[in-house]
Amino acid sequence: MEIVLIKIKKKKRGEIMKVTMITGDGIGKEISQSVMDIIDASGANLTWDIVHAGEAVYEETGSLIPDKVFTSLEQNKVALKAPMTTPIGKGFHSVNVALRKKYDLYANIRPIQSIGTMETLFKQLDLVLFRENTEDLYAGMEEKVTDDEMRSIKIITRDASERIIRRAFEYAQENHRSSVTVVTKANIMKLSDGLFLDIAREIANEFPTIEFKEILVDNMAMQLVIDPYQFDVVVTENLYGDILSDEMAGLIGGLGLVPGANVGDDMAIFEAVHGSAPDIAGKNLANPTAIILGGCMMLDYLGKTKESHNIRYALDIVLSQPENFTHDLKGTASTSQFTQAVIKQV
Ligand code: NAD
Repeated sequence: MEIVLIKIKKKKRGEIMKVTMITGDGIGKEISQSVMDIIDASGANLTWDIVHAGEAVYEETGSLIPDKVFTSLEQNKVALKAPMTTPIGKGFHSVNVALRKKYDLYANIRPIQSIGTMETLFKQLDLVLFRENTEDLYAGMEEKVTDDEMRSIKIITRDASERIIRRAFEYAQENHRSSVTVVTKANIMKLSDGLFLDIAREIANEFPTIEFKEILVDNMAMQLVIDPYQFDVVVTENLYGDILSDEMAGLIGGLGLVPGANVGDDMAIFEAVHGSAPDIAGKNLANPTAIILGGCMMLDYLGKTKESHNIRYALDIVLSQPENFTHDLKGTASTSQFTQAVIKQV
């Protein structure tokens, strides 16, 4: 299964392109190496500008995102990023959220597509989630009223809603998808979610050939585990998108399998949906599939579709051989064994 999600840059296929690789925390280092080795083996001709960010760098330098990372991103405009740790409750803000905001990477696109033959809840699933990436409860507007009362403010604006919803419809139209489902809780948050839903209804009118569906987020959570095939392209706000994409990952075999793209008008950062998995970090146990698929989305974006196709095809073969399954897929293969198996196929 192959999808070309975003507008392809006008570059010559054979050209050497420089991209930023941001290594992260936890399993980030292991899976960064895996994806770079596989992309190099595919003959995609990329030059990697490797920079470091996240908790580990903070401990060394006092800065979560050193200037080198910003400089590299601003020069290359295209990056692959490994997961970073964000301590819960206190401490620093998320690097991911900071990068999305700084570079206005407003569209978080997460394809949830069945791959391989391991045991999963559903087979042959092909969903694409568009998550608004810059506002909602992630706007960072939290305040302490008293020691016993905290407030988080949810922001929904017309401009931000319009551009993500339009992007979802345009994607559906360009890729001959059948429907777009908008997910909200507009029955309760009548103003904020109500605005998001109203805008979706307006934009749906501009795309008469695409079926438009609307659903409340609680019902969506249930419908996904009962019959996910009723959905195709899904568009939603930031927090609902974050939660639903993990649920969707569970339908096809887990977090180790789902990539994401953070796309703005001028820059794109590709990644795995999962986090830094501290419980398995440094043990050579991580499944690198999600970041490899993130790398494939990046190759599509760069116009290197032949190489991305070959890597996806190799992954599908490797994930159909139980001896290559990593521990999250109930197998015993290590990250490096998995990587070598993919390299043999590309
Ligand atoms: P997580 O995604 O790191 O892990 C959840 C579970 O899935 C763990 O049991 C983990 O071992 C497993 N898992 C995840 N990825 C896997 C892989 N590739 N192979 C095998 N197993 C895998 O979520 P968490 O534990 O809630 O978060 C850990 C840290 O990651 C937190 O600090 C969180 O803020 C951060 N995080 C970062 C990103 C990102 O950088 N994009 C995304 C989500 C969470």
